[in-house]
Amino acid sequence: MRKLFVVIGDPVAHSRSPAIHARAFELLGMDAVYAPCRVRSDELERAVDGLRALGVDGFNVTVPHKTAVAPLVDRRDLSAARIGAVNCVSREGDALVGHNTDAPGLLRALRTRRIDASGRAVVVGAGGSGRAAAFALTESAQSLTILNRTIDRARSLAQAVQAAGARARAAALDGAEAQRALHEAALVVHCTTVGLSDERLPFDVGLLPPGAALADLVYRGATGETALVRAARERGLRTVDGIDVLVHQAIASLEIWLSRPELDSLAPALREAALA
Ligand code: NAP
Repeated sequence: MRKLFVVIGDPVAHSRSPAIHARAFELLGMDAVYAPCRVRSDELERAVDGLRALGVDGFNVTVPHKTAVAPLVDRRDLSAARIGAVNCVSREGDALVGHNTDAPGLLRALRTRRIDASGRAVVVGAGGSGRAAAFALTESAQSLTILNRTIDRARSLAQAVQAAGARARAAALDGAEAQRALHEAALVVHCTTVGLSDERLPFDVGLLPPGAALADLVYRGATGETALVRAARERGLRTVDGIDVLVHQAIASLEIWLSRPELDSLAPALREAALA
């Protein structure tokens, strides 16, 4: 029978995930469909019940539902439970199981671009993707600083990371401590919504030292390149863009749904599909 996958979010029409998964199914010779579904926040619970009743084979969850969906699944894997956000749901029998593939997606995208994540890392943003990035980097980074517009949110994420046994500090995005952290960073991961729909820069790329690398989770337009990524490339910094991360989180989702590890070789073709 044809397999059915969906992505739920609001908005969702701009998502490149359907194009990525359609190409993956083609390359894997699978009879499967992946459809975008706009779900309003006040309909999320009913939507998850509906997906359960329909027996979908799996679904992705995107902005703004990644945190709210976590208590609606039957169980969460360790990583999703630690991060507190779910972006991929699989079925195990009748049970819906929540995973977070944003975290491995970021690490795989960095590895593919040969960017080392073992030095001083800075995560900018403390929302759902900031949480995934922070927990992903705690495994490898020598130190971790979380910068956020709302300092309390950065502090609470730093505390959650510390409770998991890693070191992290928090600072306000517009303060002197943030400037110092950016100036000393080996890797900066941008996880705010700034630059998603305009050419704004969330921070001054000129603060980063030469040799630093930048990963931007945001993607935009025909090339996926944000003003932030463009500014970093113009400075000669190594970069990972939001399409790279999107492709690698999609591959991590496919590996879970299909119980087929090692699908990384699909990445170049899926990137092409995302930008087509
Ligand atoms: P979220 O949970 O809503 O968090 C939003 C973050 O942006 C918060 O840290 C918020 O700070 C910050 N922010 C919003 N407006 C700001 C402003 N004007 N100035 C400074 N900071 C501001 O969103 P999310 O799920 O983490 O997603 C963040 C972005 O990453 C989105 O653009 C999303 O599309 C992208 N993303 C991409 C991928 C991928 O695969 N490429 C995966 C996940 C997410 P406050 O706490 O102060 O409000």
